[in-house]
Amino acid sequence: MSERFADIILPLPLANSYTYKIPEELSESVKLGMRVVVPFGSKKIYTGIVRYVHAVAPQVSSVKEIIALLDNAPILRRPQLPFWEWIANYYMAFIGDVYTAAVPAGLKLESETSITLNNDFEAESPFSEKELKIYNALNDNKPHSIKELTRITGFKTILPTVKNLMDKGAVSLSEELRAAYKPKKLTCVRLADGIASDEQLQAVFDSLHRSKKQLSLLMAYLEMSHHLAKSGQCEVAKKELLEQSGISPAVFDALVEKKIFHPYTKEISRLDSSQTVQQPLATLNSFQKTAYRSLLSQLKEKNVVLLHGVTSSGKTEIYTHLIAETLKLGRQVLYLVPEIALTTQLTQRLEKVFGNKLGVYHSKFSDNERVEIWNNLLNDKGYEVILGVRSSVFLPFRDLGLVIVDEEHESSYKQYDPAPRYHARNAAIVLANMHGAKTVLGSATPAIESYQNALSGKYGLVELTQRHEEIELPKIMTVDLKESYRKKRITGHFTDELVEKIKLALTNKEQVILFQNRRGYAPYIECKQCAYVPRCPHCDVSLTYHKHFDMLTCHYCGYTTKVPANCPSCHTPSLQTKGFGTEQIEEEIKALFPEAKAARLDLDTVRTKKGFEKIIRDFESHAIDILIGTQMVTKGLDFGDVSLVGILNAGNLLFYPDFRAHERAFQLMAQVSGRAGRKSKQGLVVLQTPETDHPVIRQVIAHDYKGMFATQMRERHDFRYPPYFRLINIVIRHKDPGTNNHAAALIADELKKLLGSRVLGPNNPPVGRIQNWYIKHILLKIENAASPDAVKDIIRNIVNGIQSDGRFKSLQVNYDVDPM
Ligand code: ADP
Ligand code: ZN
Repeated sequence: MSERFADIILPLPLANSYTYKIPEELSESVKLGMRVVVPFGSKKIYTGIVRYVHAVAPQVSSVKEIIALLDNAPILRRPQLPFWEWIANYYMAFIGDVYTAAVPAGLKLESETSITLNNDFEAESPFSEKELKIYNALNDNKPHSIKELTRITGFKTILPTVKNLMDKGAVSLSEELRAAYKPKKLTCVRLADGIASDEQLQAVFDSLHRSKKQLSLLMAYLEMSHHLAKSGQCEVAKKELLEQSGISPAVFDALVEKKIFHPYTKEISRLDSSQTVQQPLATLNSFQKTAYRSLLSQLKEKNVVLLHGVTSSGKTEIYTHLIAETLKLGRQVLYLVPEIALTTQLTQRLEKVFGNKLGVYHSKFSDNERVEIWNNLLNDKGYEVILGVRSSVFLPFRDLGLVIVDEEHESSYKQYDPAPRYHARNAAIVLANMHGAKTVLGSATPAIESYQNALSGKYGLVELTQRHEEIELPKIMTVDLKESYRKKRITGHFTDELVEKIKLALTNKEQVILFQNRRGYAPYIECKQCAYVPRCPHCDVSLTYHKHFDMLTCHYCGYTTKVPANCPSCHTPSLQTKGFGTEQIEEEIKALFPEAKAARLDLDTVRTKKGFEKIIRDFESHAIDILIGTQMVTKGLDFGDVSLVGILNAGNLLFYPDFRAHERAFQLMAQVSGRAGRKSKQGLVVLQTPETDHPVIRQVIAHDYKGMFATQMRERHDFRYPPYFRLINIVIRHKDPGTNNHAAALIADELKKLLGSRVLGPNNPPVGRIQNWYIKHILLKIENAASPDAVKDIIRNIVNGIQSDGRFKSLQVNYDVDPM
């Protein structure tokens, strides 16, 4: 038989796939999209994905062989591979990076992957000899890497067996913060078929009068099942029964032997999906109905429609109706949200309507949970609607019919680091096209690019200008911070006006949201004597002060250090805090309103999934009166009793050196304002700002999105920015500043020869060194009419040329296409 080869994508920053020989015994079984174990480099093994199968031997002296095949069926579905290829090509990333980002770690074991035993595991079928040996090697309850396990067991190919153990639930990936493992299968118990009536039960009792332990276990069972039945549940788990009764498993087995107990196994999902009762869809109000009809009719003509609806106009209700229609056709829905902050509330809303057809996917899930969602989708086990953050575009959908991109203007849709630096909204539109699906983009403050696409006719456009129940948009009151400071009408960072309105809201038992765009206590500390500012030793930034821990932290690399008692420069005890963050606001509010319950919502308080959910639930249930947050509080949250929103300093937003600063400032202020007065009455926003007459402030007060759009479009046109021009940022990094400058200058010169004034730089980024890597940027502005593919080829050629020069061996070059 002729030799067969497979091109394999490896989870490494590699542009190409590598060709391996398919061993004869596997030649029939290796198929596109399956996982294989392959050697790479001198000692490493990786799980790769089959990209092509062919008969063309590569032009090298020795071709390595595939070690093992992990799957009977592909773990990717059409069109995932072409979608990966599109991402790699458009965003100038390596296909290996796309694979790394797309597939959960549990599905791509490699030498360094660390495995742990699951203590709660109950074996159902006996282990093979190989499985047993690996299982025993893990019996010390410590994590072991695949490499170590290979050494301990002496097996040459270990991955397929580890994979089997994972599938059985016996072992799983060790994770830093491992979510408690919940078994996939549960052994439950009920009474055997012949025992139904009271008489039959009495007969059983009589038969057991000599076996006290068996009798008490039976009693314990009856008690537990009675108790559970009252709370609406009915399954008695064996483990729980034994735990609660304190009786040994041998007694349990004896009752099974006597045909009194009937054990059975039950498949359970590891994911929390509380079985909420299904509710009918809300009836749309008349504005929503008109919008919905228009949306449906425009979707017939266009692949993408923008739903521009003011905050609290009921966009989510409209999406829900669209989802229901799509499900009726037997097709799936992807509902993207910019960050997990939004999934908590939306999960509750959507679960009520779609029950366990809803799956949720985000980064706070453990890798085990992500693997489970992946497999459920792959095996068509239930999920028809996926609510998730940007990485959900990589899930194995069977047949997408609809993609919803909620809060489509949010910059967190853009992945910044590591590569692939993709924009999930734009990638989702491409994915939808590959599935023959439609996309709905929704926002109260659309991205300039999206609104322009809608006005030009590329997208459809539906506008909703009324809040649900015709509640008026919040009234916005500005307070001049300069005046307040001058007249000393300010306590800490709270002007007298804001304090008074908070007091009023609390008296009326209403809730308050306070927005401050920085976490931590103070952005930095400074010496009063010598103006020394502590900086990160690895990055070119000052350290942020976190009072709670009395620590200084680098928000770029995580470097943390104690606050020195004396200034390291002049040795006097003169260090003091500068600027302010959410932590300080929380402290001030607690001093101003000691009787109110205040909490903080920012990256520091929501490190865990539960942490976030708790804050949201507590605010919903009024266990919190005042919620202080970073931009996390601005996005799409729906609380009924918030009457007041305070923006502590709009200046931080306005004076930021970025061409999107004004667009973002408008979006942030409009969005955070939109959290006020969502139900029953008009809300109030107190906007503290050093400049009350700034054009963006005026547009925010007037709720004038179109005015903001017009101003921005003029600026974008004059300064050659999107949507008139495309941007590509080339990020050049080296550990030696001289080499970095040299390489950056060479690349820029070469580019300018071919692309002329489209090339800007090399420039110094705002943070010129991160983790000891020196950084330079080269920005390209490319007119829309030019072919982006041609430009990308030019860039790749020039950069490859420089990188193959011995002097620039360890130079790192990344691309950020459509940077945000
Ligand atoms: P948006 O997504 O535009 O911000 P939502 O869909 O969150 O708006 O709606 C705002 C609030 O009004 C929500 O609490 C929602 O449940 C309620 N609401 C909106 N439309 C309706 C409707 N047709 N029937 C009942 N409640 C509605
Ligand atoms: Zn740092």
